[in-house]
Amino acid sequence: MPSAIPINGHRTPPRGTGVVKFTNCLLVKGDKLVEDDLWISSVSGKIINGQEILYEHRAAPDEVIDLGGRVLAPGFIDVQLNGAYGFDFSVIPEDESVGYGKGVSRVNRSLITTGVTSYLPTLTSQRPEVYETALPFLGPSGTLRDPNKGSESLGAHCEGPFISPKQNGIHNISVLRTASSGIADLATCYGASNLDPNSPSPIKLVTLAPELDGALSCISSLTSLGMSVSIGHSDASYETARTAIKAGATMITHLFNAMKPLHHRNPGIFGLLGTTSSQIDKPYFGIIADGIHLHPTSIQIAYNAHPSGLILVTDAMRLSGLPDGTYDWTNGSRIVKNGPLLTLEENGKIAGSSIQLVDCVTNFMNWTGASVAQAIGAVTETPARMLGMENVKGSLKEGADADLVVLDLQNAAEGTEKKLVVDQVWKFGVKVFEKV
Ligand SMILES: [Zn+2]
Repeated sequence: MPSAIPINGHRTPPRGTGVVKFTNCLLVKGDKLVEDDLWISSVSGKIINGQEILYEHRAAPDEVIDLGGRVLAPGFIDVQLNGAYGFDFSVIPEDESVGYGKGVSRVNRSLITTGVTSYLPTLTSQRPEVYETALPFLGPSGTLRDPNKGSESLGAHCEGPFISPKQNGIHNISVLRTASSGIADLATCYGASNLDPNSPSPIKLVTLAPELDGALSCISSLTSLGMSVSIGHSDASYETARTAIKAGATMITHLFNAMKPLHHRNPGIFGLLGTTSSQIDKPYFGIIADGIHLHPTSIQIAYNAHPSGLILVTDAMRLSGLPDGTYDWTNGSRIVKNGPLLTLEENGKIAGSSIQLVDCVTNFMNWTGASVAQAIGAVTETPARMLGMENVKGSLKEGADADLVVLDLQNAAEGTEKKLVVDQVWKFGVKVFEKV
């Protein structure tokens, strides 16, 4: 079992300049792997210009790390994670804020060992009191730039409750809402202070159904507050979905799941991927590549239609990261966890995902023929671009945060398939995990 390097709550004081050079590695650059060195600073926590250090400052790195030909990628970003390691972002524990804060910290410290260095903690449709307690803990958490805090929230993803009762999936239908008074209804639900134009919001992404009464006007209100809007859990026609994109929505939440399937006379939300770029900006779209939610060929079709929009997400829930077994669920039900597959004990129905993001990358690569770099791009550069953070996250460019993953590309047990394994994780220029 891999284990985390002990996290002691302090940043190790860097020796000398704190400059680290990675060598003998394959860097993810665009859709290619490139043999090159990478320089980082453990003081600034950023990727730096090695040539400048070497020739202008005539300084040598403090540490040279030979990666033995392994892949060096930006840290992964998961824009849809409902919970993990026994903690559910949508459930307020009995000791309320105290327990909730501890739960979030625990997820952050464990999640980083999977290569996910930043993410959007995701709330399913809830009553206002849940947002009131949860959101203060889910806003961007990296301002202290402390690598020992683990994975970093880039802000919350509110998936609902402004979604369609016809496409609610596992969301509790009794808490779903419409937005006939526009953004005022969202403020009532999420909390007015969380939608206040004069203060930063903990919310980064909102999934809503654009066909709901009042929802379209909310899209431009949310984007003007600096949030991104994704279409999801929606029964929208192609035309309505297109109007939502024109209003400022930039993403589709878990494409294919919880929406109408493609029909040749009404292509629905999926049709957005077939629209020419001169008509609308094609949206980004989340894909759950766990082998359960989607057929590999459906993923291939979506990828071919809009390769630069595909974002791999886990949509994983609180049993993710726990050992296989049978767990108590709500209303007396029990869930059987068998690898990434979660089923209800009583009827064998799919009960969610518990896959890790690195395994989504592996599946995607093997199913679509995407290159290693292209597959990694779907959890790094593409989600960073969707979030407007492409110069800070998901990139190995100079000036970006030194959130890094060292990956071993192995041959899978059978056939020609490959497998990516997380060997090391670096956060803000400091190594925080090494597989043993
Ligand atoms: Zn969903």
